[in-house]
Amino acid sequence: MKTIGLIGGMSWESTISYYKIINEEVKNRLGGLHSAKIILHSVEFDEIERCQASGDWEKSGRILGTAAQGLEAAGADFILICTNTMHKVAPQIASMIQVPVIHIADSTADMLEKCEIQKVGLLGTKYTMTQDFYKQKLIDRGIDVMIPAETDIDVINHVIFHELCVGEIKTESREKFKDIIDRLKAQGAKGVILGCTEIGLLIQQADSSLPVFDTTLIHAKQAVEIALGIKKM
Ligand code: GLU
Repeated sequence: MKTIGLIGGMSWESTISYYKIINEEVKNRLGGLHSAKIILHSVEFDEIERCQASGDWEKSGRILGTAAQGLEAAGADFILICTNTMHKVAPQIASMIQVPVIHIADSTADMLEKCEIQKVGLLGTKYTMTQDFYKQKLIDRGIDVMIPAETDIDVINHVIFHELCVGEIKTESREKFKDIIDRLKAQGAKGVILGCTEIGLLIQQADSSLPVFDTTLIHAKQAVEIALGIKKM
């Protein structure tokens, strides 16, 4: 079994999900007392968020790249960055280590292809929804990506940083997300990407009028397939 290196803490609420899903998936596949080999480097999210807000992506990339180097030195065979947003600096991080970074948008594109979804709505932070670093990966795979209207982008971004990342799960926010998903459906989306690793804490398949693609679940499960040699890196 390969050792999974996790760069987490962005936020730690969703890193818990990664840890749980990865171990549950290993248990489902191997049974008994089997569990995953994981090394976690959990960062101080306030420091990272300040870099995001000030546009100092290079500094955040250095912090996460240094974390990745530590994971590699400790024996990680491959690395997951446990946030969609910070994949903006995935190339910088990857350039600092020898072991592969499993890109969350590639894992998501694999799943969309498997489910034959060609037109999809994307929910995430304002960075993920409005910038190209994430969407382009999907577009390059032939997937049509739709983002919510500007006012909805503000609502989603606010809920992520002021509620989900601080452990607050509110019914009224769930209702707002459901309405946003309904609007994406009305515009022709055939599925919705939960493109922020905390959204799965708020929205499950039962809450959504569209098939849900939860990036935390997809990324974590793909990591297990790689760790067990079912999927190539
Ligand atoms: N975990 C979130 C994501 O998947 C947001 C936190 C962050 O800005 O890294 O994008």
